[in-house]
Amino acid sequence: MAVISSMPPEETETLADTLVRGYLSRLGVEETGRLGYLFLRLRRSVSVFLEAIMEEYAQGRFVPMAFEMPVGLPAADDGTPVVRPVTLTTEGGVQVTLSGIIDRVDRYTASDGQEYVRVVDYKTGSRTFSLKEVRQGLHVQLLLYLFALWQGGLPGKGSTPAAADVLSGTTQLLPAGAVYFQVRPGEIPSDGMLPPEEARKKAVDAINRSGIWLKDEEVLEAMDAGLSGKYVPVTRKKDGSLTGKANLQDLAQFGALYEELRSIISGIAGEMADGRSAAQPKTSRGVKECTYCPFGPVCRTGGK
Ligand code: SF4
Repeated sequence: MAVISSMPPEETETLADTLVRGYLSRLGVEETGRLGYLFLRLRRSVSVFLEAIMEEYAQGRFVPMAFEMPVGLPAADDGTPVVRPVTLTTEGGVQVTLSGIIDRVDRYTASDGQEYVRVVDYKTGSRTFSLKEVRQGLHVQLLLYLFALWQGGLPGKGSTPAAADVLSGTTQLLPAGAVYFQVRPGEIPSDGMLPPEEARKKAVDAINRSGIWLKDEEVLEAMDAGLSGKYVPVTRKKDGSLTGKANLQDLAQFGALYEELRSIISGIAGEMADGRSAAQPKTSRGVKECTYCPFGPVCRTGGK
């Protein structure tokens, strides 16, 4: 990572070019006409995305631990460790196993030797983390990935402890944060055409990170050196206190959230197991969950 985090912009563009060309080649797509233009846009997006990642690693102390890390799924051939899933039992006795794939896991060893993990989910859209939505049972996977690492750890690194043990600090991996990392920059306001380097810098700066973080100053500093507010939306006031929009939780609050989430999911799973599955889609931030659901034709709402 020391090499990639210090890569100059020209090399990130070359790397982006190689990655996008390889991707298109696997799809059997030729870069001509309109596709050639789309290829150029994609290459620029990938290049900005790479630079944003490298810039973040270069200034922080978290290091990448795994990419595309399976949670509760069969192990991949490349030896990537598999995380034990969060499991629970509904009131009716139904066993529930929550599995998936984490885009990226980062790790940090603190000054006292404690290890922390941060999970990162790449988003092409503009999703932001909302604790309110999580409490409604929506978009819970990001936190579940973090809790799976916290609760289960990695194979060969201890057994799954009870929540009480977690709060007493016997777990090896503690949660540092769960972050949605926007892979495309948002709108860049400008009165006119910007010089390419300035436009590029603004695009990198416009990559949004949204999530939930551990309220621990050493860990926050390890993610955002000097608490600049750029990588974690929090800064330090003159009196030393923290300020900003970051959703910060201490370890006990993370523990309470874990129990709350288990209860919410247990309730949803119990209803499903009992055959109670009324089509009552939620609307969050003005968008009905049906928008991306393929079951409209069979749920009697037609997705409306
Ligand atoms: S389309 Fe039907 S099944 Fe899908 S979210 Fe909407 S109501 Fe639920």
